[in-house]
Amino acid sequence: MKKLIQAGAAAIALLSSTEALAAIKVMTTTQDLASIVAEVGGDKVAVESIAKGYQDPHFVEAKPSFIIKLHTADLLVVVGRDLEIGWLPPLITQSRNPKIQPGGAGYFDASQTVKILDMPTGPVTRAMGDVHPSGNPHYWLDPGNGRRIAQAVQAKLTAMSQADAAYFAQRYADFDRRLAEAETRWKAAMAPYKGAKIVTYHRSWTNFADAFSLDVIGYVEPKPGIPPSPRHTLELEQEMKRQNVKILLVDPYFDMKTPNAIGRDTGAKVLMMPPSVGGVPEAGNYIALFDYDINLFVSAMKQAGTQ
Ligand SMILES: [Zn+2]
Repeated sequence: MKKLIQAGAAAIALLSSTEALAAIKVMTTTQDLASIVAEVGGDKVAVESIAKGYQDPHFVEAKPSFIIKLHTADLLVVVGRDLEIGWLPPLITQSRNPKIQPGGAGYFDASQTVKILDMPTGPVTRAMGDVHPSGNPHYWLDPGNGRRIAQAVQAKLTAMSQADAAYFAQRYADFDRRLAEAETRWKAAMAPYKGAKIVTYHRSWTNFADAFSLDVIGYVEPKPGIPPSPRHTLELEQEMKRQNVKILLVDPYFDMKTPNAIGRDTGAKVLMMPPSVGGVPEAGNYIALFDYDINLFVSAMKQAGTQ
């Protein structure tokens, strides 16, 4: 019995030492980033996300369990553009991990190489209530940006583990090929709705609308992060009726009271669409998220009788 326990302990020690050698420990703030890191990193990375896809990424509960995970991370990948500013900084500080502090070798801001929309032209601060003061942080909802993130992740992982350069290059190339095939499929499905006028709750679908040529004519929130007001809602409803808007897109974590009222008043279909991997079980990875959302959107447009 004693021998067996010793053998078991030796096996565990061996297992943990090979695991430690094999995998770069990556934490990401969102599941979208975790999915892209997993695509490129394969079994050379162990990746976990802090926020779940069904949570509003602007407002995530800073659980102490994340501090422990961040403490041992080799790399932290963030969305940036102030998306996580309300909850991430204390977690990073309390992790006492010098590698992942902003500016450290293990801190990686995925927004640096992507296409950013809604860049403020005048002075905007969070004090004014706008939670998008550094441009729109929901940029992963453009598949072109997904590719740019994957490319930047490939470069970062290669810099961290030169011996695996060819492996990461091959993984990136494979993801790029599958994403390109999927984009052809998505563009074809969305082609009949080019220029379709929609309204969204939050400014979270700006990059999606840009990628698939939708025309967002208004928002339920008067400003990003500011809850709907009766006066703004009334004006929005008038505009929706005037422009015959058929679809109101709502991220699943928002209060449905105002969107449902707008739907009743204007006849628009209220469509709850997950903006992140993990938002629904079917959206289990980055490509599956677009498959799910585009299928949902196209069905809703057909039901609304536009095609
Ligand atoms: Zn936002």
